[in-house]
Amino acid sequence: MVDRSRRQLFTRRSQPSLPRLPWLKNEAEFTDICSRCERCIKACETNILVKGDGGFPQVDFSQGEGECTFCYQCADVCPEPLFLAQTEQPWATTATINEGCMASNNIECRSCGDMCEPQAIQFQLQVGKVAMPTVSSDDCNGCGACVSGCPVSAITMTRVDASTQ
Ligand code: SF4
Ligand code: SF4
Ligand code: SF4
Repeated sequence: MVDRSRRQLFTRRSQPSLPRLPWLKNEAEFTDICSRCERCIKACETNILVKGDGGFPQVDFSQGEGECTFCYQCADVCPEPLFLAQTEQPWATTATINEGCMASNNIECRSCGDMCEPQAIQFQLQVGKVAMPTVSSDDCNGCGACVSGCPVSAITMTRVDASTQ
């Protein structure tokens, strides 16, 4: 059962690239330190962690329940000094909707908005067209629930650079 109350709100701006895991201290040094023990993969309560390139763990929102609940289990079970404290921001990432969106093609769909607990996806009414979704990066916590909820895979997660705020 997903406890949506554990989600948090963050503020950031966009930059392309995918998050690997929440609460990483230093993503650039991750593959030097991670022993590929797979404890985090086994501990993930929503089963969204997979073996990625080189066997290193990686979030994949198309797997399991398709969203991060910010339960901190992946960090808790890790024997290496890879993770920040739970009180820190888990990651700087936000949902991005691309041109494949059905609403962009004037077909009614609000699935992503229905999936979004923080209500970061709002639909703007347009004259003579279906309502279009927009993501507020201020409200999006990067949970990924909308990614698996989109019937045409039109949503990706995007790195946000907190230093540019
Ligand atoms: S915080 Fe929890 S749900 Fe999110 S990746 Fe880690 S173990 Fe999985
Ligand atoms: S769920 Fe996908 S297709 Fe539907 S409105 Fe959202 S982004 Fe568009
Ligand atoms: S927009 Fe998507 S990733 Fe962001 S909070 Fe809503 S459901 Fe989660």
